[in-house]
Amino acid sequence: MTDDEAPHLPAASPQRREELKRNLSEVRQRIADATRSAGRDEEPRLVVVTKFFGVEDLIALAELGVGDVGENREQELHAKVEHLRENRPDLMSVPRRHFIGQIQSKKAKRIARDADVVQSVDRVKLVPLLDDAAAERGEPLEVLVQVDLEQDSHGRGGVAPAGVAELADVIAAAANLRLGGVMAVAPLGEDPRRAFADLARIHGELLREHPDATTMSAGMSGDLEVATQFGATHLRVGSAILGSRPTPR
Ligand SMILES: *Cc1c(COP(=O)(O)O)cnc(C)c1O
Repeated sequence: MTDDEAPHLPAASPQRREELKRNLSEVRQRIADATRSAGRDEEPRLVVVTKFFGVEDLIALAELGVGDVGENREQELHAKVEHLRENRPDLMSVPRRHFIGQIQSKKAKRIARDADVVQSVDRVKLVPLLDDAAAERGEPLEVLVQVDLEQDSHGRGGVAPAGVAELADVIAAAANLRLGGVMAVAPLGEDPRRAFADLARIHGELLREHPDATTMSAGMSGDLEVATQFGATHLRVGSAILGSRPTPR
């Protein structure tokens, strides 16, 4: 490699950029329409879920004005953060990075360092781990309580509705954490209305004790309209923008 040759950094192709731009504007239109149908003044915030796709897509999305991205695997989040730190320090604070995956206790500290918002806190045991690591930050780390909306079985992660108040109180008492609100995934194979109605009720109860916990993160590619109707403040949209993911092994 000659001196004036650029170092090898991954970059999205012009075609891929066009595709992302088109998908993003379709999703933004869906959100605008859903907001209007719901009679709401303010649109929910879009968190683009970049999991399973390369950091070049994240960078392209940031350049298209995306202000929030979501990741669900600690290793992948960490690799992307390291890449940005070295190559695109201008993108370290925006887009904000949301962690939305299950949290293993031994990974909690690194998640607290790499993410700006941790949406998937589902047990009291994680709180001191996140709180310790967040002490190194200049500002409190925002965390959400993930609620399990499955009716009979244990579902796709989250604390049972009966445990939300206790977990929220423990978070609110932690010196370096800020309780932002709740997050949930609608159970597979059923009407998301029931699930999002439950989440809205649980969020309403939380707000009585913690009036600043205004975030309700709900709604994905397939159900963002329903979530908007039920009051979601944040939507987490992956495949409708990035395309279908390779099936995890
Ligand atoms: C992957 C994922 C999403 C995005 O799902 P899509 O259907 O691709 O939009 C949202 N929330 C969580 C928790 C996820 O893991």
